[in-house]
Amino acid sequence: MGERLGKKAAIVGMSVVDKFRDECAVVGVYGHPEAANMVYLGLYALQHRGQESSGIVSSDSGALISHRQMGLVADVFKEDIIKRLRGSSAIGHNRYSTAGQSHLKNAQPLVVEYAGGPIAVAHNGNLVNAQTLRGELEAYGSIFQSTSDTEVFIHLIATSKERTQMNRLVDALSRVSGAYSLVFLMLDRMIAVRDPMGFRPLVVGRFKTAADSDGYVVASETCALDLIEAEYIREVEPGEIITFGPQGMESLKPFPPVPHAKCIFEYIYFARPDSNLYGRNVYRIRKELGRQLARESPVEADLVTPVPDSGVPAAIGYAEESGFPLEFGLIRNHYVGRTFIEPAQSIRHFGVKIKLNAQREVLQGKRVVVVDDSIVRGTTSRKIIQMLRDAGAKEIHLRISSPPTMGPCFYGIDTPTRSELIASSHKVSEICEFIGADSLSYLSQEGMYVFLDGSRDGFCDACFSGNYPLHVDDEGKTKQLHLFEAMQQR
Ligand code: AMP
Repeated sequence: MGERLGKKAAIVGMSVVDKFRDECAVVGVYGHPEAANMVYLGLYALQHRGQESSGIVSSDSGALISHRQMGLVADVFKEDIIKRLRGSSAIGHNRYSTAGQSHLKNAQPLVVEYAGGPIAVAHNGNLVNAQTLRGELEAYGSIFQSTSDTEVFIHLIATSKERTQMNRLVDALSRVSGAYSLVFLMLDRMIAVRDPMGFRPLVVGRFKTAADSDGYVVASETCALDLIEAEYIREVEPGEIITFGPQGMESLKPFPPVPHAKCIFEYIYFARPDSNLYGRNVYRIRKELGRQLARESPVEADLVTPVPDSGVPAAIGYAEESGFPLEFGLIRNHYVGRTFIEPAQSIRHFGVKIKLNAQREVLQGKRVVVVDDSIVRGTTSRKIIQMLRDAGAKEIHLRISSPPTMGPCFYGIDTPTRSELIASSHKVSEICEFIGADSLSYLSQEGMYVFLDGSRDGFCDACFSGNYPLHVDDEGKTKQLHLFEAMQQR
C-alpha cells in the first residue's frame, strides 16, 4: 500500500483536520541506513501524542515513498511495509483521535509534487490564520484537497515567487501565524522548523553510532531519542529552520525574535513524564506541582492516591510534601483497545470502568486525597469519585495539579469548545458539587510556575489564564475567543 510518487504525481493524501483538534507527534531521521525503522520506533515512543493514524514517508533513489494508515503505530507498520520504505532519510507523524474525524485522509505526512520536486511535511500545532490564507490562495486559483491547516504550507511554498526552495519556505512561513513544529522531507534533505513563539516542542538528536557519518533525528519529545539511542543535542529554537543535508546541520533564523509562548500544558499533561521538555524533566516538574498543590491546599487524610497514569507524578509530590502514604487506590488497565465491544445493557460508569478499577482493599473507610492533572468536562472526575465511594472511601478530597481549564487552545491542544469546559462557567464550589467530592482544590496560576520561581515569561497558559499570546484571525476561532472573553467579563 506504499505510494511511490513519480515526477508527475498529483497531490495525494491531503488531510482534513478539525481546526481546534490537532495534537500530534512528528519524527524525522536523516542519514541513517534504517531511517524508516528509526522513525517507526520514534513514533512508537510518541504514541501518546496521537492514536488515530500514523504515517511515514521515506526518500529513496529520487522518489518519496509513503505509507499512512488509520490505527496505532504497531498496527500500521509491519515488517514488509518498513522494508518498502527504503532510504536513509524519512519523516513520520502520529495524529490524535477526535470524534467524527477518523478518516485516512486526515493522516500525515502530506506528500505532494510541485514544480520544485516532491516534498513531504509532518506538522504538530494549529495555525490561527489558515482559513484566511486559504481564502486568499483560492482567490488566486489554488485548489485545496482538504481543509487542513498543514495543506496551507504546501500551497504557500508552491505559489511563492521566490526561486530557491529555502526562500520559498521562508516566504511561506512569513505568511503563516500560529503554532507549528514541522518536519519536511525532500529528495536530498530534511528540514525542521519551529514557529517563532515556540508553542510546540521539537528537539534534535544525533546518532551515536559512527562518528564519521552524521545521522540526525528530530522529534516532538526526547523520549523518542532515548528509544533509538540517539544523543540529545538541543531543541530546535523558536523561529529556527534547521536543514539536514550532505553538509550536515545548518541553522537559519530568518525572522525577528518575538516573545516565546511555550505550551505549559505539555508539562502538566501532554508530554511523557520521561521527556525533557524546554530543558527540564517533565516528571520532576509534575512532582513539584504536586508538592506545591499540597502546600497550597492541605487537608487531613489517611492516604494519597493518583488517577493513573497522568496524575501519578503529582500525587507522589503531594504525598511527599504532606507526609501521607501514597497508595494505588485506582488501578489502570493498560490494554484497553479500540475494538472493545460494549454490552448492550448499560453498566454504570462504563467508560471509566474499562480503564480504571477502584480497590476496596486500599480505600475502605479511608480519608483519601485523589490527585489528577486536570479537569476538562468533569465527567471523568465525577465517575471516579463515585467509584471511590462505591469502594468504601470515607472522604474524598480531589486535588488538581493545574489551575481550572477555562478556555480553548488555538495552538494545538485538543480542548473542547469553551461551553464544554466545566470551569469556564462554574465556580470551584459548583464543580465540587457536580463531581461529588468532599472538597476540591486546583493549583493556583502562580503555583504552576513554582519550578521557575514564579516567572511566567516565555510560556503560553491561555487555557488557564485567558491570555492568548497570538492574535487569532480565523473566523470560527475568533468567535470562540470572543465568547470566552465575554464570559470572563461577566
Ligand atoms: P474530563 O472528564 O473531561 O474532565 O477529563 C479529565 C481527564 O482528561 C483528566 O484525567 C486529564 O488527564 C485528561 N485530559 C486533560 N486534557 C486532555 C486532552 N487534551 N486530551 C485528552 N485527555 C485530557
